[in-house]
Amino acid sequence: MLIVMDHRATPEEIERVVDVIGAMGYGAKPMPGRQRTAIGLVGNDGRIDSARLEGLPGVREVIKVSKPYKQVSREWREEDTLIEFGNGVKLGGPEVVVMAGPCAVEGRDQILDIAAQVREMGATVLRGGAFKPRTSPYSFQGLGAKGLEHLAEARERTGLAIVTEAVDAESAEQVAEHADMIQIGARNMQNYRLLRCAGRAGKPVLLKRGMSATITELLLAAEYLLSEGNAAVALCERGVRSFDQSTRNLLDLTAVPLVKSLTHLPVLADPSHGTGVRAKVTPMARAAVAAGADGLIVEVHPNPPEALSDGAQSLYPAQFGELVGQCGSIAAAIGRSLAALPVGEPAADGPQAATRPPETPA
Ligand code: PEP
Ligand code: MN
Repeated sequence: MLIVMDHRATPEEIERVVDVIGAMGYGAKPMPGRQRTAIGLVGNDGRIDSARLEGLPGVREVIKVSKPYKQVSREWREEDTLIEFGNGVKLGGPEVVVMAGPCAVEGRDQILDIAAQVREMGATVLRGGAFKPRTSPYSFQGLGAKGLEHLAEARERTGLAIVTEAVDAESAEQVAEHADMIQIGARNMQNYRLLRCAGRAGKPVLLKRGMSATITELLLAAEYLLSEGNAAVALCERGVRSFDQSTRNLLDLTAVPLVKSLTHLPVLADPSHGTGVRAKVTPMARAAVAAGADGLIVEVHPNPPEALSDGAQSLYPAQFGELVGQCGSIAAAIGRSLAALPVGEPAADGPQAATRPPETPA
């Protein structure tokens, strides 16, 4: 439920509404807007009598949020949510953010090498799993804490923001400490305890759609994150299971405009897991930008045949360069552009102050 205040409502009237909501046993979340303040009522299971609030001074109207997800919905918040990383890159605005890197961090040299290459080609966020949720317990499970250290070093050297997956409460804390964004993978989309931990970890979250999750289930999973007080959440379409085995998954691009109409959160697409086939990644990346995705997350490996995970869907660096060029043209055709870091040559070692964006972007 959303209590919309009159534009002339006084701070005291707003305070009174907050107090009444508290006395009714619910949480109140004031959201000042350009024109007027709205107060979100949280913890509401739909059985509330709105008359008590409608009669309070300064209240313009009480809106019942019709969707099962509340804070995530466009009814709750009309304006797009913008997530800003430490390097000044903004996700959810007019610029399309390209995240790229290997499926897994396999070693220091590998991640530093690919980070430098994808940065050069236009990525602004580096991906790479340190904790890998693998289908088989015998497959490479990731380098864990060491992998996070390598990612942090890659950020120092390149200015790229870091997104990496957390698989449980412990790794969520570690990821929050080292990375700019916590990824919750498809296999954990409905791991509600993990969602609550990630919601409290104090960093933006990238929530990937489960491989057989409905759109409503995806948005309700996101609601867990927002209900913990984390408003910096982005969603990612990464393909769903299909009857056809020709591709690894079926990248549901209808989800992009659909989810964007239902929520104010940024929506990304992952054409790598969405297809599982290297040759299909770039066409689907182009299609995702055309469909309105706010970002892409793409697997790129210095030597895909040797990759310890997801080599078959990993692009060679040169292919990634082409993808960025083509997606830039598609973005321009729909009035957008790709987010970019300031131009600069990466230093051989050490932090590269010269290429890091200013602390406070202009
Ligand atoms: C990944 O990003 O490497 C990954 C495991 O993705 P998903 O959770 O979508 O399978
Ligand atoms: Mn992968």
